Amino acid sequence: MARYTGADCKRCRREKTKLFLKGAKCDSPKCPMESRPYPPGQHGRGRTKDSEYLLQKREKQKCARIYGVLEKQFRGYYEEAQRKQGKTGENLLRILETRLDNVVYRAGFAASRDMARQLVRHGHITVNGKKVDIPSFRVSANDIVEVRAASRELTPFVVAHAQLGERAVPAWLEVIPSRMRVLVHSLPERAVIDTQVQEQLIVELYSK
Ligand code: SF4
Repeated sequence: MARYTGADCKRCRREKTKLFLKGAKCDSPKCPMESRPYPPGQHGRGRTKDSEYLLQKREKQKCARIYGVLEKQFRGYYEEAQRKQGKTGENLLRILETRLDNVVYRAGFAASRDMARQLVRHGHITVNGKKVDIPSFRVSANDIVEVRAASRELTPFVVAHAQLGERAVPAWLEVIPSRMRVLVHSLPERAVIDTQVQEQLIVELYSK
């Protein structure tokens, strides 16, 4: 599958906001957004007057980049969100939040969503006792997500286990550290999704 292969930090600078794509580096002074919080390139610091369309497009890009989703899949999520009852923007965020890679990241089992994606792909995660190696798999209320017993001694999980609790876990999830287990209590409401995205702008963009 096609993936963005450029520098992660350039993506943050392009969106002029931290997207938290690099784990611990994002919270350290080494984060380029601390020293160069403007878009990359020769004209990065130049003044640009963003049109309404550009703002909407940037918000969509930002959201897709945060969750590591490419355009076609993102568009598919939007269309699914539109078909559901309730606000389309909130539905869209809920769909993105319930991706298995995001749940693994939110639980603190991976330092970034990229890393979580890799851990899922490599077969280290189970859902309700069955191995699931599809990062886009979506969890449901009452699901149990767990690191496979055979994988718990691997370095990424040993490190993650030692750092559990350093990052807040959203209220819709509960982590059981001793089992490297996550209980999905419910699907998330907008109020508990801390992703800094104005989803209404994305809805406006796709509604044109
Ligand atoms: Fe973005 Fe993290 Fe890089 Fe900072 S360190 S620019 S937050 S990916």
